[in-house]
Amino acid sequence: MILSTHIVIAAALTRPLAAAHPLLTFAVSLVSHYAADAIPHWHYPTRTILKTEDPAARRWRGTASAYTTDALAFAVDASAGIGVVWFLARPATADAWIWLAVAASGSILPDFLQGVYMAGASFLQRHQIIHHRIHSSILLDAYPWIGIPFQLAIAAVAALFI
Ligand SMILES: [Zn+2]
Ligand SMILES: [Zn+2]
Repeated sequence: MILSTHIVIAAALTRPLAAAHPLLTFAVSLVSHYAADAIPHWHYPTRTILKTEDPAARRWRGTASAYTTDALAFAVDASAGIGVVWFLARPATADAWIWLAVAASGSILPDFLQGVYMAGASFLQRHQIIHHRIHSSILLDAYPWIGIPFQLAIAAVAALFI
C-alpha cells in the first residue's frame, strides 16, 4: 500500500487505543503495515527503486533529480495521510499528538526500513525478505484504474473509524 493508506489504516485501528500506552499504538500500527501489504494493491511509479526479482538485491539507483522527485512523492504521500488523520481526529492534547505521531511512524516503519536496507544496511536483510514474503505478489501497478479506486475505498472505509 502507499504510505498515506498505511497511516489512515493504522490510525483507524489505534484510535480506540489512543488513551492506552503508546507502545500498544506502535505495535498495532506496525503489524497493520504487514497485514495491509498482504492485500493486492497499487503503487505509484518510483524512479529510483531498482525493483529486482530478488528482494534482497533491491537497491536505490538514479540521478539526483529522480531522487528529488521520489523524495517529494514520498513526502506528499505521507503528509496526505497525516493530514487526513489530523483533520478527522483533530488532536488537541499532547497525548493525541503523540498518538498521531506514533501511529504514523509505526505504520510506515517497514517501508522506511526497506529504504535503509536498499541504501546498504545489510543487517536489515532478514526484515527485507520477511516484508517481501508477506507483501502480496499480486501487483496492481499496471492497473491503476482498478488499483487506485480499490485503495481509495480501503482508505475511505478506514477513515470512517478515525
Ligand atoms: Zn506494496
Ligand atoms: Zn510495505
